Amino acid sequence: MRHFAIVGSGPAGFYTAEALEKAYGEAARIDILDRYPVPYGLIRFGVAPDHQSLKAVSKRYDKTAESAGVDFIGNVTIGRDVSIAELRDLYDAVILATGAPHDRKLGIPGEELPGVIGSAEFVGWYNGHPEFTDLDPFLAGSHAVVVGNGNVALDCARILSKTRHEFEGSDIVGHALEALDASATRTITILGRRGPHQIAMTPKELGELGHLEAAVPVIDGADFPPVEADESLEPGLRKSVTLLRGFADLPQDKPKRMVFDFFAKPLRVEGEGRVERVIVERTELDEKGAARGTGHTYEVPASLVITAIGYSTSPIPDVPFDGGKFVNDAGRIADRLYAVGWARRGPTGTIGTNRPDGYEIAEQIAAAMPAGSSSEREGATGLKRLLESRGVMPTDYDDWRKIEETEVSRARPGSPREKFVRHRDWLQVLGR
Ligand code: NAP
Repeated sequence: MRHFAIVGSGPAGFYTAEALEKAYGEAARIDILDRYPVPYGLIRFGVAPDHQSLKAVSKRYDKTAESAGVDFIGNVTIGRDVSIAELRDLYDAVILATGAPHDRKLGIPGEELPGVIGSAEFVGWYNGHPEFTDLDPFLAGSHAVVVGNGNVALDCARILSKTRHEFEGSDIVGHALEALDASATRTITILGRRGPHQIAMTPKELGELGHLEAAVPVIDGADFPPVEADESLEPGLRKSVTLLRGFADLPQDKPKRMVFDFFAKPLRVEGEGRVERVIVERTELDEKGAARGTGHTYEVPASLVITAIGYSTSPIPDVPFDGGKFVNDAGRIADRLYAVGWARRGPTGTIGTNRPDGYEIAEQIAAAMPAGSSSEREGATGLKRLLESRGVMPTDYDDWRKIEETEVSRARPGSPREKFVRHRDWLQVLGR
């Protein structure tokens, strides 16, 4: 028998479990650990609540969780409740699938002013992440600024612009729905430090903006190169740029505007006691395609600033870390210690990109310890004994299901569930 511990129950963790299960069948026990009593990480806390079709991938993970060789062990924080060294003693291999939950910083003056928040915080707030329940983003002003030209920036801008009616069928949490419904935001400026040809937004996500109930996207044709230049773009990006250009033809007859401001690099954030404006420098592309300041500056009014410029992984004591992700060589960190997904590659790619990652790690592990080989390691039995001795009470598959069923049973009309937003509420459902 072999024992494997996967730390983190998001897409990367579940694809790895699926791959290990396929490779080992009954010859391995696979434990998926998470600091929360409910799994699915990015799917639950990161994917936008109005993108239920993307969340449907969790049905596949459900199947893995239900496999005989796989167990979910929640409510355990690795690096705090159990060390990596202890985990490596107990398991044949430890795979870190902890994602990238922290916001990268802009590193400009004024970033610390109240009213400037990161996308991980904002996304966590509307998705019921317990760490961000009390974020209370300032929505009483008319002008919000989102920094970044990726899909997360689009998620944030779209959520800020939507009406209550447009959230029907989503699993947005109640506190966010009420706050957004009462929001005074009328202009959402999306700042891109480079141009339309350099966006990291995908066509499906951009296309949605043309069909919003109360908001219209706005572009400035002067930011675009001649249309013939689009021919050299790869097809996905070309489609995105065509969609962007098409926004120029939309009637400007809706109360909210989503303004794409390209070649606009934030220099500093200003305000008396809280954010009031972003000072931006006009940029141009240098020879290498990077943003170069032109010296021309202007201000964009802002009562709320959301930075959506990428994420970093949480360090874990005794695991080499490069400031953004774990130091690894093709997923291998050290003997019997691996990283997958964003913790391995950094925060890029779609949910599905994590699948080949997980399969590759499973292959590496199976090559090092072929199915049929065995060890004396204790796996979950030893882990649970250790946790008990420290007063940590892990949760299991049945606990997770009980929480989920309770969430579904208390859902608002038009919502698939009403998520719990505090750690203690999860534990209360379990009678702890
Ligand atoms: P991303 O795609 O890497 O985009 C980050 C953006 O931030 C880029 O436009 C980047 O501009 C900009 N940026 C970085 N540093 C900056 C700075 N100092 N000042 C101004 N702008 C800065 O990251 P993401 O949006 O966080 O998304 C992460 C991954 O999740 C992506 O692969 C994304 O496609 C995926 N995702 C997918 C979906 C979906 O499929 N619906 C939804 C959300 C996220 P430069 O290009 O100039 O560096």
